[in-house]
Amino acid sequence: MEQAEIGLIGLGVMGSNLALNIAEKGHRIAVFNRTPARTQAFVESAGDLRDMIVPCATIEELVAAIRPPRPIIIMVVAGDPVDQQIAALRPVLAVNDIVIDAGNANFRDTMRRFKELEGSGLTFIGMGVSGGEEGARYGPSIMVGGTPESWTRVEAVLTAISAKYKGEPCAAWLGTDGAGHFVKTIHNGIEYADMQMIAEIYGILRDGLGMGPKEIAPVFAGWNRGRLESYLIEITATVLAADDPKTGRPVVDIILDRAGQKGTGKWSVIEAQQLGIPATAIEAAVAARVLSSMRDERLAAELAYGAIPLKFAGPRHEVLGDLELALFAGKIAAYAQGFAVMAAASKQFDWNLPLPTIAKIWRAGCIIRSQFLDTIAEAFGKADAPANLLMAPAFVEMMGKSQLALRRTVARAVEAGLPVPALSSALAYFDGYRQGRGTSDLIQAQRDFFGAHGFERIDAPGAHHGPWGGGD
Ligand code: NDP
Repeated sequence: MEQAEIGLIGLGVMGSNLALNIAEKGHRIAVFNRTPARTQAFVESAGDLRDMIVPCATIEELVAAIRPPRPIIIMVVAGDPVDQQIAALRPVLAVNDIVIDAGNANFRDTMRRFKELEGSGLTFIGMGVSGGEEGARYGPSIMVGGTPESWTRVEAVLTAISAKYKGEPCAAWLGTDGAGHFVKTIHNGIEYADMQMIAEIYGILRDGLGMGPKEIAPVFAGWNRGRLESYLIEITATVLAADDPKTGRPVVDIILDRAGQKGTGKWSVIEAQQLGIPATAIEAAVAARVLSSMRDERLAAELAYGAIPLKFAGPRHEVLGDLELALFAGKIAAYAQGFAVMAAASKQFDWNLPLPTIAKIWRAGCIIRSQFLDTIAEAFGKADAPANLLMAPAFVEMMGKSQLALRRTVARAVEAGLPVPALSSALAYFDGYRQGRGTSDLIQAQRDFFGAHGFERIDAPGAHHGPWGGGD
């Protein structure tokens, strides 16, 4: 039998769809899964693509089925399972073979694995893949970290299977070792903020304006034809319009309000903190998921404090206009934070991350895909691109036009007792960012008072102390 060009380990949701995508683009692929029954089921469901797939019962069989030098994608649960697969592969692979971890790895694990394989003759690539099941099958966004040479060896197949935005592939090499997985992590952090802000607006429409899912769905569908056009707004409209087949009620009304998470949001926040970059909208989104999981405590607290008489002020048509703009302004702040985190990491880890390219490969295939990213790519692509998206002229104009709506929305939500943690922290970040004279003069005075930490003066260089005993 003709040898395969590429191999894949892990035929779960993502791996099986990625394998079909690769096969469909004309690349013969050898596949292996820990549980053989899954391999069997996968092959049986492959239809016309069956001839392009070589099912293997062992790792040794998989390696033997691929033409050297072998690219092998690992698409299993992140963490120890990836190390286990690498350990199983190492003794059977040959010099120049490439191991590609395509799961949601923590980029620090990717850096460690990259180092561990250095000098072994094997090459390691850490590859972020976004787009869920459908993306994996028909074109995901692909974020690659590794050596530039390793990218040239896999570029053809990865660009072939990736999503396309107006013909441009949404796959790119972003830097060495952990760069791809870092960018994927921040993609997910931004996704958390995007989803949370959408949920907060849904909360205002539901609890503040008393609208049902069927009334809210067309509002989001309408917004999807304007400045907010994006995959997440589109699916929000679809989800809100759907009925539960069992009860006939709107599906959202029978779903428990307890959000899950797998870790990439939390990692985004931890890394932002480590890098010293405020990512408040992402932090608020992660915290909101944690709070959502404390359902029993929330129910008890509602009993203890009683329901707040909810009333969201303002005529409905005005409020709806504000909500659209508020969501847009919040989104600008959240994306500004996410890109600022990447810019700082780029320096810290010497990656030279191409911010315009990142925005470009997120325009299609991934979960946060939207028209908006095209504007971001343009802003960062300019010769005098600013350090923070909020300072790009196009964004100064857009934020200028939408910030009042965000302000009114947050104020009215707070008065009505409706939680809007991501929107309000996005606003607070914006207000702090645009305030030339802040209030940290007082913090510095307090620090000097209790800890003799010293402070800078506005009228003289050097470190100084206040008149609270000792010092100058
Ligand atoms: P699934 O749960 O559908 O599949 C998990 C796969 O991992 C199975 O093939 C399973 O094999 C294998 N596996 C688990 N533990 C081990 C182990 N110890 N040794 C060998 N194989 C093991 O997961 P997904 O396909 O959803 O996710 C795979 C990766 O892709 C994860 O890192 C995930 O975070 C990432 N990802 C997922 C996305 C999604 O939307 N689902 C989107 C983007 C990335 P077995 O059949 O034997 O259990």
